[in-house]
Amino acid sequence: MNAKLDAGLTTRNVTRDTFDEVLVPTYAPAAMVPVRASGLDLWDQAGKHYLDFTSGIAVTSLGHCNPALADALTQQIHKVWHLGNGYTNEQVLRLALALTEATFADRAFFCNSGAEANEAALKLARKYAHAKFGESKSRIVSCLSSFHGRTLFTVSVGGQPKYTEGFEPLPPQLSHIPYNDIEAARAAITEDVCAVIVEPIQGEGGVIPGDPEYLKALREFCDKTGALLIFDEVQSGVGRTGELFAYMGKGVTPDVLTSAKALGNGYPIGAMLTTNEIAHHFGVGTHGTTYGGNPLAATVALNVIETINQPAFLARVKEASARIFANLDKLTADFPQLFGKVRGSGLLIGLPLAEGFKGRAKDFTKACEALGLMLLIAGPDVVRLAPALIVSDEQIARADQIMREAIDAMLNDAPAK
Ligand SMILES: *Cc1c(COP(=O)(O)O)cnc(C)c1O
Repeated sequence: MNAKLDAGLTTRNVTRDTFDEVLVPTYAPAAMVPVRASGLDLWDQAGKHYLDFTSGIAVTSLGHCNPALADALTQQIHKVWHLGNGYTNEQVLRLALALTEATFADRAFFCNSGAEANEAALKLARKYAHAKFGESKSRIVSCLSSFHGRTLFTVSVGGQPKYTEGFEPLPPQLSHIPYNDIEAARAAITEDVCAVIVEPIQGEGGVIPGDPEYLKALREFCDKTGALLIFDEVQSGVGRTGELFAYMGKGVTPDVLTSAKALGNGYPIGAMLTTNEIAHHFGVGTHGTTYGGNPLAATVALNVIETINQPAFLARVKEASARIFANLDKLTADFPQLFGKVRGSGLLIGLPLAEGFKGRAKDFTKACEALGLMLLIAGPDVVRLAPALIVSDEQIARADQIMREAIDAMLNDAPAK
């Protein structure tokens, strides 16, 4: 029937329309289909070039197809791919050493995504509290507008009701409080709370930095009540803020930290980090996953950590960040009718839309994409920039130029909705 079948399954002709025919429609991807990428450069099926300021949502922090990572992965590919949990492997041992040496943590658990890392953290918090204080200590406190993943547990803990609609019944004993509101936290963190989970910078919720005073208050309330403080650093971690993990710049140490996204630079891996005392509440057989910490993922993550956790590398992230902030401050000063005050940390940056332009973040990123710049949104009212941490000064200047061209195009062509 389909002549293209003769070409073989792996080389069959596919287009963006194929997505609408055979994928479960959980996403509405862009019209262009990327086929090749290197660093921050990306090309679509038609050969058109884009400058990528998304990093696949803060994932490919060392650039697409990073040559050193590709070499390391290729070498490992010819050694061993997978073993199963009946065996450990050298790469995951090295990765756990690197992460525990670099952070507050003594122990690591590996999985394959941010949601799974949070799932592990939340389950561990329940187990810990039940063993230490009894079963009534089971409430989990999280923040409105937060995002912690899409499993039923993590999406219910997340603070965006639109993502849980239709999936009821939801797990009980969850409370949501406004972000950066110390009094609300004081009231919510009672004796029955086993864990408080928070993003040090809310990513999906609009790129909203956590107030250091707020995070310190959460630490204090958790210490008072015996609740565990979990920092979800799936988006903010691995150099994104100019620190290896964002907590290091906030002066607050969590009990449990979760990482994923940039940890694998696009190779799926997640991690939950914690202390000896807490980790021991997960015994043999209490939690696990088939792929977690397999030699391929561990090899990539090990090389990512080795590259990013260098003072010069992190200093450059801050320098690049200052440049982009300066450009965006100028942009908002030039177009106050379009944009509000720039916010964020390091290379996780939010450009909120001004009142009269609200709801049009996607229109703006589409206009940029047409001109060859890929950007993200964080909700309908915030444009989000998350370029690879290796972004050059020229690329920063080029992005600024394209954003200005996109503004011209939007102001001249498109009537405001
Ligand atoms: C992306 C994200 C997650 C979910 O990670 P997945 O790998 O998609 O499961 C969790 N928390 C935060 C803060 C995130 O940004």
